[in-house]
Amino acid sequence: MINIVLFGPPGAGKGTQSKKIIEKYQLIHLSTGDLLRAEVMAETELGKKAKDLMSKGLLVPDEIVIGMIENKVKSNTNAKGFVFDGFPRTIAQAEALDNLMSKNNIKISGTVALEVDEVELTKRILERGKLSGRIDDQNETLVKNRVKVYFKETAPVADYYKKQNKFTSIQGIGEVEDIFKQICTTLDSYGS
Ligand code: ADP
Repeated sequence: MINIVLFGPPGAGKGTQSKKIIEKYQLIHLSTGDLLRAEVMAETELGKKAKDLMSKGLLVPDEIVIGMIENKVKSNTNAKGFVFDGFPRTIAQAEALDNLMSKNNIKISGTVALEVDEVELTKRILERGKLSGRIDDQNETLVKNRVKVYFKETAPVADYYKKQNKFTSIQGIGEVEDIFKQICTTLDSYGS
């Protein structure tokens, strides 16, 4: 089983690379952003709670996203593995993920971080906003705020995985295929 955390700031290319990874390795993609947007669209109670925070670029409470991930992992116990995208975003989420993994007798194989600087991130997200229709992609102040939230609340999660020797950093600027090849080299080093 390969279970990877795809780590990096908003706009780093996690979604793009996730698609390629799940196709090649037959894994299940768990993006908390996608799951939350589906809840918002369906106007569920959870979606109503998340909507305002998301539109401000703030994080949704840990217990909400942890609960969503728990449900998905439990309902896919026969999976070959998971790609966690946009999760964990706080230390509490990282700890909850470790607990969930050990309860199910599985573990995180490693974390792959896509490194992209702030100027490039802002440019990419605003460009994506023209097509994605995501409100949080369309306003420069909001985009900068998301990047700020990332560096303050999410970047410390890197240390959590470095301490466990489960952290590989990859340059996220360049050709999509070249970046993917580097990710594959890392995943192949995990064995199965
Ligand atoms: P991006 O990586 O481009 O910021 P996402 O789709 O991952 O986009 O996330 C969009 C929004 O959803 C975030 O700004 C945040 O409000 C919320 N969100 C997603 N994942 C999490 C999480 N793990 N914890 C808290 N909030 C989250």
